[in-house]
Amino acid sequence: MSINTGRERMPSNESCRSSVVPLSVPHIAGNEWTYVKECLDTGWVSSVGAFVERFERHVASYVGAKYGVATASGTAALHLALQVAGVRPNDEVLVSTLTFIAPANAVRYLGAWPVFIDAEADYWQIDPYRVQTFLEKECVARQGHLYNRASGRRLAAILPVDVIGHPCDMGPIHEVAQKYGLPVVEDATESLGAWYRGQKVGRLSSIACFSFNGNKLVTTGGGGMVVTDDERFAQKVRYLSTQAKDDPIEYIHHEIGYNYRLTNIQAAVGCAQMEHIDEFVAAKRATAERYTARLRGIPGITPAREAVWAKSSFWMYTVLLNPEILSVNRHDVLKQLKGRGIESRPLWQPLHQSRAHSSSHAYGGPVAERIQRQALSLPCSVGLSQSDQDLVTDALIDICQKK
Ligand SMILES: *Cc1c(COP(=O)(O)O)cnc(C)c1O
Repeated sequence: MSINTGRERMPSNESCRSSVVPLSVPHIAGNEWTYVKECLDTGWVSSVGAFVERFERHVASYVGAKYGVATASGTAALHLALQVAGVRPNDEVLVSTLTFIAPANAVRYLGAWPVFIDAEADYWQIDPYRVQTFLEKECVARQGHLYNRASGRRLAAILPVDVIGHPCDMGPIHEVAQKYGLPVVEDATESLGAWYRGQKVGRLSSIACFSFNGNKLVTTGGGGMVVTDDERFAQKVRYLSTQAKDDPIEYIHHEIGYNYRLTNIQAAVGCAQMEHIDEFVAAKRATAERYTARLRGIPGITPAREAVWAKSSFWMYTVLLNPEILSVNRHDVLKQLKGRGIESRPLWQPLHQSRAHSSSHAYGGPVAERIQRQALSLPCSVGLSQSDQDLVTDALIDICQKK
């Protein structure tokens, strides 16, 4: 099971608030009602409308990118971003192994293959050193392209995923990408609002993807976006996301496209959400700070970390529970927290261990496996009160300190 379970996946006969303290629920407290009502009142409910354009402009300008193209989901954004970046059937794409499964699935949608790269131990992002050594040691250059020696396949792109709100160390990744002429498609779906060395996540690579699923920092119910400074990329993504219409009046199509559009109603929700993004990030960071202050120094618990070169959005607040020190394991802690009405969640099964991707290759993996065995994400809704935050840390410390 992944941590990707927001309110939207709750069974319908179950209250959204069945936990006393849920893991993460959307914060709807602004102009959402007003804007959605405007769509309904005017009849602009579908995939054309002023809110779609406004939402695209808002997100693009927030991250500092020139163009934003809204999509039906973050997964759809990744699918199209990889396609316009030049990924073709039977190519290979380097992907983080410690991530929600969506980016690896998007690679497979194109008939290409992920190569799973291990995480680094400190911030749990794709290990740039492993990216570098894989390309240098395991690949060979031929006629302007790089090929994996073992599989014979062409390397087409690097797809780093900024997991749980923290950016990857993009400097060395871009350096090696440039050296080999590989495009970098950034999966920033979990990290809207984060910074890397003074730059907002989403404008670090030539093309980046966001998600507005119900559990993400900003939600449209479901949705996504591709952001880029490259006008050709933006145009091509828009073209492919709207059934590749070459002549929209005569219905002439030169390529196979998709219906990957976001609706005006969804974008209306997104516009209202974006008006409060700075508050959302501030709330997440304040929760993280309070959690860390309470958990620091507790034997067996490693609080979430932030690199000196990063400003995390702390989309999720995730701790490590050391089984060599604690007498309870992560699984039992989750169950006991649940017994006290507190929802928590493990990270994802590393993808090199996933049956869904058992035909793909991996480069390393033990670091991701160790993180996954120990990691637990704590409640982190934007609206989480300080007293609920203390309830969570008190319960966690109590469970971990029981002999
Ligand atoms: C949420 C998420 C996505 C996209 O999810 P959608 O539900 O399709 O919007 C992609 N990658 C990662 C790492 C995610 O967490």
